[in-house]
Amino acid sequence: MTSPHTETAAVVAEPAAAPDTRDGAPVDAFRARLRAFLSAEHPGRSPKGDRGARTRWQQDWAATLFDHGFAGPSWPREYGGCDLGLDEQIVYYQELARARVPGHPGNGPSIAGPTILTFGTPAQRERFLQPMLRADEVWAQGFSEPEAGSDLPALRTTARLDGDAYVVNGQKVWSSNADVADWLFALVRTGTQQSRSAGITYLLIDLTTSGITVRPIRDLSGGSHFCEIFFDDVRVPVDNRIGEQDGGWGVARASLGHERATRALSQAALFRRAWDELVTLLQDRGALADETARDRVAAFEIRVRIMQLTAQRTIDQIRRTGEPGAASSTSRLYQSLLEQGLYELAMELLGPDAVLLDADSGAVQGGRWVRNYLRSRAATIGTGTAEIQRNTIAERVLGLPQIFTPTR
Ligand SMILES: Cc1cc2nc3c(=O)[nH]c(=O)nc-3n(C[C@H](O)[C@H](O)[C@H](O)COP(=O)(O)OP(=O)(O)OC[C@H]3O[C@@H](n4cnc5c(N)ncnc54)[C@H](O)[C@@H]3O)c2cc1C
Repeated sequence: MTSPHTETAAVVAEPAAAPDTRDGAPVDAFRARLRAFLSAEHPGRSPKGDRGARTRWQQDWAATLFDHGFAGPSWPREYGGCDLGLDEQIVYYQELARARVPGHPGNGPSIAGPTILTFGTPAQRERFLQPMLRADEVWAQGFSEPEAGSDLPALRTTARLDGDAYVVNGQKVWSSNADVADWLFALVRTGTQQSRSAGITYLLIDLTTSGITVRPIRDLSGGSHFCEIFFDDVRVPVDNRIGEQDGGWGVARASLGHERATRALSQAALFRRAWDELVTLLQDRGALADETARDRVAAFEIRVRIMQLTAQRTIDQIRRTGEPGAASSTSRLYQSLLEQGLYELAMELLGPDAVLLDADSGAVQGGRWVRNYLRSRAATIGTGTAEIQRNTIAERVLGLPQIFTPTR
């Protein structure tokens, strides 16, 4: 695949001094400084249509955050992050959601970055982290395969050691943003096909390498947010392996934990904002004159507050133990169901013209609510299905017998 971003890959600016919030500087002062920065540097609205243009808009914003010392709230300063305490991280995500600025393109800083920080060599940290955080290089995740999603240890893409490189053959699927990404963090099989989690290795794969084909998959919202990826004798340097050969499963589990922790923080802020905007819109359209509608809105407000509390529980767990823990499945499950419930309620209460898409005349807010309604159908599948989350809660939180969740 030819990446549209490789020309910027080598450009890594020195980060500006990160905001000082660790030595007793009050959270309110941090909020005020961040708010002023967001107002001064706001990138404006997303370009319409072209996915490449939207990704570049996200990349430019990530670079602006980096260059002003506001990138990577939990990342060490050495790699351009803010190294914020958890209270400041909560403020960080609240303010970014409030300002409606673009998210980081790809899965780099939320999953691959913390993994490289924990398990990478000094040379790997030096090579990959700053360009990842500044979005000079965009990253995608290559874990799932056609017969290995919930049962990830069944994956079959092979990597055979040949001199100083692995030769990769097989297929990944559902890789979000792989069509606009430069790099893939992937799980491959280096053991026998029966070795399950004991024969998996974690590789960083340059998506411009010969033998890689990336095909976008169109989803029911009309967009192409994820892709299938084919590997045909793709050579990946051994230097791009994270951790030991056959030791990738432990590395991957850490990746998924980081993803969940970051999501708990950012999603709570994003859905609170979306909900507040929906309530304002309903008021403006006179939809809350009806008592039943008001009742449903009040009931949903309670769900939004519970979501914030379950996210807080994950955060408290990280604070106490340094890890998100199994209870993070509760907040993940709650958030995914809340996301679906929010857009279902929007469709019901906004009225018939809410189902029109942007090309149609009379679409409510450019078709924003129906697009999100369609996208939200995937919320209980991505990053682990609702059923798997329920299994995890049953087994690891409630202590029921471990018979459901495939982990090995
Ligand atoms: C929007 C979106 C983005 C994604 N992005 C990425 C990405 O960037 N990279 C990546 O690698 N993957 C990605 N995925 C893939 C995602 O991780 C998988 O879809 C998910 O893990 C489920 O796997 P599957 O699709 O193979 O379904 P399956 O595992 O085949 O599951 C099918 C059904 O069976 C149920 N089921 C399976 N096992 C059990 C069990 N033990 N107990 C009870 N029920 C069970 C499931 O809950 C589901 O309802 C993404 C998916 C979505 C929807």
